[in-house]
Amino acid sequence: MPSVFIKTYGCQMNERDSEAVAAQLLAKGYSLAPSESVADVVLLNTCSVRDLAEQKAINKMRNLVGTARSEKRDQIVGFLGCMAQSRGRELIDRLPDVDLVLGTQKFHRAAEYLDELLSGKREKIVDVAPEAKSEAAIREHLLNGSARTSVSAFVSIMQGCNQHCTFCIVPATRGEERSRTIPDVVAECRELAERGVKEITLLGQIVTSFGRSEKREAWQAAQMLGNQAFPVLPDGGADLPLNPLPAASPPAPTRPSSPFVQLLDAVHAIAGLERIRFTSPHPKGYGDDLVDAYARLPKLCESAHLPLQSGSDRILKLMHRGYTREKFLGIIRKLRRARPGIGITTDIIVGFPGETEEDFAQTLSLCREAEFDNAYIFKYSPRRDTPAADMPDQVPTPIREERNHRLLELVNDIAARKYDAFVGRQVQILVEGPSRKNAARCTGRTRCNKIVLFDGGDRHRGQLMDVKIERTGSFTLYGDPAVVNL
Ligand code: SAM
Repeated sequence: MPSVFIKTYGCQMNERDSEAVAAQLLAKGYSLAPSESVADVVLLNTCSVRDLAEQKAINKMRNLVGTARSEKRDQIVGFLGCMAQSRGRELIDRLPDVDLVLGTQKFHRAAEYLDELLSGKREKIVDVAPEAKSEAAIREHLLNGSARTSVSAFVSIMQGCNQHCTFCIVPATRGEERSRTIPDVVAECRELAERGVKEITLLGQIVTSFGRSEKREAWQAAQMLGNQAFPVLPDGGADLPLNPLPAASPPAPTRPSSPFVQLLDAVHAIAGLERIRFTSPHPKGYGDDLVDAYARLPKLCESAHLPLQSGSDRILKLMHRGYTREKFLGIIRKLRRARPGIGITTDIIVGFPGETEEDFAQTLSLCREAEFDNAYIFKYSPRRDTPAADMPDQVPTPIREERNHRLLELVNDIAARKYDAFVGRQVQILVEGPSRKNAARCTGRTRCNKIVLFDGGDRHRGQLMDVKIERTGSFTLYGDPAVVNL
């Protein structure tokens, strides 16, 4: 049977889609090739969020087909995912050696189409059409594929995005929001737990919108599973300290929770599962029910990714984000009150059209106030058919670069201080297996999502264990398991 090599660009959703395609092909008898040069099939699962990611995939494909041609090798090559969806046939017009272009609602058809191409039944296939229920088609896992995935798994709970931020191409590449049902997601998570998975990360473009477009269905399922009610927290959190004392016991429930929190409750009830995470949420989705879930669900890890994008209210409005800096800081206060020590990360775009030095100063000041554990900083990249691409006052590249550099310095300084504060502390980690860079070391993650390295072996894989943090590196903690549990 043929061998396949899949290279993934972009986010965790793309990683998950590639994993599901690989598992689907393995089930059909394909093998996974160790490198692209020996594979019968090479698939590039692409990202469109920034122009750089698209250019990387296009250049990679150009190199692949050039090498295969010069070595007179017969290789089937294809584009999958976001760029395949947004560019479709245009990719074959530009690179005529490409055999397959498969959009974001078609990952589950990869095996069927590759069979047709390999058997010579068809010469080229482009399929980027929408397909009903495709949101529930990403479900196969490669549990033995890598050290990390056998302990910890990603579960795709929804597809698409209805938020329409003015900078973002995702609604065009992933389509309208479509959520799986709660019982369907729970069944997949339960199966993973039965196969030894201890940590599940629920994935979607905006997970906090889960079930919003299919409210009735999610509600019915939730009633079957026993819905939780949640307390309403006082005001917008403005009066809460940013680094608070331990949580007080939550007030009495007063309102039924959102479909996403219902899902968290249902996944939390699965025996054998130890940790739950989710990404990517939208700050608007951090209602009091979700904050309360952090206070009452022990398996929900004290870690949250809150994409900020800008600290300036004026820019947030131009971006169509739907919150203000005060509202954003209020959410952080509430989360830190509910779960002291929670790790908070963010995404920030610098150089959005019209961003002035004053707007950028607002972003810097918010970062100082919020003290993120880490921030992913992106230079604004104009995307086709997005409103921001046509906005006036596009920020020149050197200014974008300079702001990127300044913000990175600030974020790294704050993060280094936060990491240093772990030295001498004992933390619980879930061991994922040997480190990729040094097999004599094991890697694990704290509940607040920090990577910990320690001298260990395969016997530690999958264990929840306590380690004492001895020192820090760049976004890494080094621990010693020998001194704990005495
Ligand atoms: N759920 C996230 C949210 O609430 O915005 C969106 C995830 S998006 C796929 C990942 C990140 O890419 C965004 O948070 C944003 O910071 C960045 N991004 C998206 N479009 C961009 C663009 N046109 N230029 C630069 N960065 C962009």
